[in-house]
Amino acid sequence: MANETHLIKTFSCPHCGGITTITQLAAEPLVTSGKIPEGTSLSAQKIVLPLLPLEKITGLTAMVLLIERDYCADCGTEYTIRVSTIEAPIQMGRQPPPGSGPFGGFNFKQPPPGMGRG
Ligand SMILES: [Zn+2]
Repeated sequence: MANETHLIKTFSCPHCGGITTITQLAAEPLVTSGKIPEGTSLSAQKIVLPLLPLEKITGLTAMVLLIERDYCADCGTEYTIRVSTIEAPIQMGRQPPPGSGPFGGFNFKQPPPGMGRG
């Protein structure tokens, strides 16, 4: 499933003006050999921020702000390389309420039948 991506802004290194990042440099042999498709968005760190308050999200996907950070391959400065919005799947990760487990809230494993002493 291709996520909808809208590029907002790209940046070059604020220190030296370089545009090559450490991640691009490291992945270059993999891109050349075809193991990573050309044009793949590579970055050392991806920060995802929801654009909508959680209670306003109704579907299975929502537009989120994606801030990608990396290190300049020329001088090592860490900087934001790209900002975009993407349509990302929403994870409905729910914690079970305390005390709702099969053992009254204790998460120990019961030994399987027949594995007792003797
Ligand atoms: Zn630099």
